Amino acid sequence: MAAGALLLPFGRLAAAAASAARDIEARTLDGGEVILPQKAVNDFIGGLRGGALLPGQEGYEEVRRVWNGMVDRRPAIIARCAGAADVKGSVDFAREHRLLVAVRGGGHSISGQSVCDGGLMIDLAPMRWIHVDPKTRHATLGPGSLLADLDRESLAFGLVTTAGTVSHTGVGGLTLGGGQGRLQRIHGLACDNLVSAEMITASGELVRASERENRELFWGLRGGGGNFGIVTKFEYRLHPFDGTVLGGELLYRWEQAREVCDFYAEFSQTMPDPLHLTIGMVSPTGGKPMVVMQACWAGDMARGERALAPVRQFTKPLADRIAPMPYLKLQTSNDVANSAGRNYYAKSGFLQRLEPAFLDELIGGYETSSGRATVAVIQRFGGAMARLPEDATAYPGRHAAYEALVLGGWNDATRNEAEVANLRGRWAHLAPHTSGFYTNTSGAEEQDRVRDNFGRLYTRLQRLKDRYDPGNVFRLNANVKPSAA
Ligand SMILES: Cc1cc2nc3c(=O)[nH]c(=O)nc-3n(C[C@H](O)[C@H](O)[C@H](O)COP(=O)(O)OP(=O)(O)OC[C@H]3O[C@@H](n4cnc5c(N)ncnc54)[C@H](O)[C@@H]3O)c2cc1C
Repeated sequence: MAAGALLLPFGRLAAAAASAARDIEARTLDGGEVILPQKAVNDFIGGLRGGALLPGQEGYEEVRRVWNGMVDRRPAIIARCAGAADVKGSVDFAREHRLLVAVRGGGHSISGQSVCDGGLMIDLAPMRWIHVDPKTRHATLGPGSLLADLDRESLAFGLVTTAGTVSHTGVGGLTLGGGQGRLQRIHGLACDNLVSAEMITASGELVRASERENRELFWGLRGGGGNFGIVTKFEYRLHPFDGTVLGGELLYRWEQAREVCDFYAEFSQTMPDPLHLTIGMVSPTGGKPMVVMQACWAGDMARGERALAPVRQFTKPLADRIAPMPYLKLQTSNDVANSAGRNYYAKSGFLQRLEPAFLDELIGGYETSSGRATVAVIQRFGGAMARLPEDATAYPGRHAAYEALVLGGWNDATRNEAEVANLRGRWAHLAPHTSGFYTNTSGAEEQDRVRDNFGRLYTRLQRLKDRYDPGNVFRLNANVKPSAA
């Protein structure tokens, strides 16, 4: 038996039958300007099954917007791709005119890499479809699919794979960068569960990558991001799962911060694989900051109760909201707090240990800036993701023990500068304790650290770049430079 679902085949809006009324000024790959003749634009748009949007047309304003409200860029053309043919047509058009290209899946790049000023935005959101085959335990999906699609469709058939922790995030960008999530300690990263991918290269060729075909590209796609082309189809391995976890959160008073952090630093080192446990600091509006631990135990419930007992008992929490619950409920529990359209800024880094000096900075820094709309979260890696060799895929940081993330989110755009400065200032104290970072939470500011961050994986990635995108068409990402650049 096979099950499939077609989800909003044309994305948030029906495809607009746009056409250009005149020649269009656009941005080239090297930052120059190019005039796109009206006829060439209209021939291109006319060939797109999903249509396109131009500035001023209905729907353009909505579609150019990405998750981070602070990102306010205006592409010259938005190609609304309905399938691989539209993606190929868009890549061919961009190459012919040397256009700056942005690729949008779920639009959750924190730094807004999926939209550009003046270039071509290749919007994959209309390719939002998913097919789950319970027999082979595989899910196949389009690059506009969101994590909610993957979770819902898989769970309906008693299956699951690792996905991220906010369900409106795109599957595409998340997987290509690695894909951390609550099940990573049991099933590995999202990219570890990738079985195959189909991709349009910079030359417009359709290639398939898996353990059997184009193996080296398959390696690079699992962590190397969108550097080599545009993935038009993802296939994942799924795992049997009854859909219930022991999960939820424990809240603590700010005065307990040090005690809770010390406990977490110790306990998380040896906790069993089925447990995903994070520690965070939050500031409820108008209230005092609090410490929160979020847990997800995916396994035998009685064993989970025993595994979580020390966490629930080492001190008295303000509230203990850990209970058996549908995994899907947990997977959507952070959605509202991270809703699209607010202004966001993030910094993150990997750590091998949670040293007392780092915790001092974390707690002290949070305290002095409390009241600001920021969260600080630490998650433990390890388990299945760490059992693979460091270079099993192109994801850098597989053997890091922890990741720390500081995320600011606020509504008032007049505070943008002050909030960003505050977060950068805080991170400056934490960064010396970290080593490397997750490319999916980095931005343009970290671009000159990309080579070092990939470390010895970089040479292999660069060889792939030379082969699949020698002109660096796909550069709005954690960019691997072609060797000729
Ligand atoms: C609220 C929130 C929660 C998050 N939680 C997690 C989490 O739990 N775990 C985790 O690992 N990460 C998480 N992230 C980070 C996330 O992995 C990245 O933001 C990722 O880029 C999102 O993918 P997207 O498709 O939505 O993004 P987009 O902005 O659409 O794409 C980002 C980049 O990925 C590339 N890309 C996307 N799709 C394709 C494709 N089909 N082919 C080629 N290149 C492509 C492009 O370079 C693009 O610029 C989170 C981000 C946010 C905003």
